[in-house]
Formats: sequence, C-alpha cells, structure tokens
Amino acid sequence: MRGKDEALLRYEDTVEAILDEQEFVPECPQCREYMVETGRQVVQAASFAPKRPERLRGGAIIEAPFSMTLYMCPSCFTMEYALSEEDRSRIGDRLSRDPEADRK
Ligand SMILES: [Zn+2]
Repeated sequence: MRGKDEALLRYEDTVEAILDEQEFVPECPQCREYMVETGRQVVQAASFAPKRPERLRGGAIIEAPFSMTLYMCPSCFTMEYALSEEDRSRIGDRLSRDPEADRK
C-alpha cells in the first residue's frame, strides 16, 4: 500500500516537472487535467486529402505536409492533437486573405 502511494507521488512529481518544461499546456477535454506533450507527427501529402471549401475557391484550408503535436492526459490517457505553431501561422495567412483579391 505504501509503495503504491509512493509510486503515485513520484508519478505526479514527474508529470509536474514535465509540464513545467512545456510552452503550451492544454487541458484534458475529459477530466480537465493538464496534458503532457508526447511528440510530433508529420502528416504527409500522400496520407491527407484536404477539404477545399467553396469560400477558398478550390484552395485548401491546409496543405500537407504539416505537423501536429500530440498531447496525452496523465490521468485518463486521452490523447489529443494540436496543429504545430509554424503551421498555425500558415493557416492564419491563408484564411485572412481577401477572397476577391485573386479574382479577375
Ligand atoms: Zn483526462
């Protein structure tokens, strides 16, 4: 029993130290714990079919390759993806462009 409590405390300490190193600390959508960053995944063009909304005149919201950061909840182990910081600015540029600009 005591060993188990100690292990749990160490687990929490380690998680806390890892969270301190992170720039972004999202909350778990299930249980509201802070999520730890576990890694990055690059999505290649061959494995991604972009949606092309009419509003963008055949353009995609995002083109692959792009990368995502994978977060894990240390409590319920829910995993969640977020678009990487670099790719966020690409989306910002794309969606803030004037839709009439490349007409004519
Ligand atoms: Zn959770």
